[in-house]
Amino acid sequence: MAEQLREGGCLCGAVRYRITGAPMGVEYCHCSMCRRAGGAPVVAWADVSAGNFAWLQGTPVSFRSSREATRLFCGRCGSPLVFQWDATPEKLSVTVGTLDRPEDFVPRQHIYHADRLPWLLLSDDVPRYDQDAPEG
Ligand SMILES: [Zn+2]
Ligand SMILES: [Zn+2]
Repeated sequence: MAEQLREGGCLCGAVRYRITGAPMGVEYCHCSMCRRAGGAPVVAWADVSAGNFAWLQGTPVSFRSSREATRLFCGRCGSPLVFQWDATPEKLSVTVGTLDRPEDFVPRQHIYHADRLPWLLLSDDVPRYDQDAPEG
């Protein structure tokens, strides 16, 4: 896949980023914090190593969403962009929905599936974990 296809950015275009290499994982998160931060029933994330991620344009706003994690978003339009655990600074997660070609990032598992909204009907057959995935 050509490198330019792995870029992404917020709704207003002020903040842009690039991912190099393949993501380590792609998953749906059904947790209530992602739901609220994303304003959506479920949020898809692509996990990438920090060394394979770069901001291209603009500076996101940082919000400490819990004692252990930070979320980055566009301060102008509000698009959620990045999630990062304090304990694992070597990796971060990017919202698949803000990638220029989200169709190329196919989720391979559901995490926090126990928290999913009951009216969200899913027919895929990828693994579903009640909490985080075993491989993290
Ligand atoms: Zn924006
Ligand atoms: Zn979540």
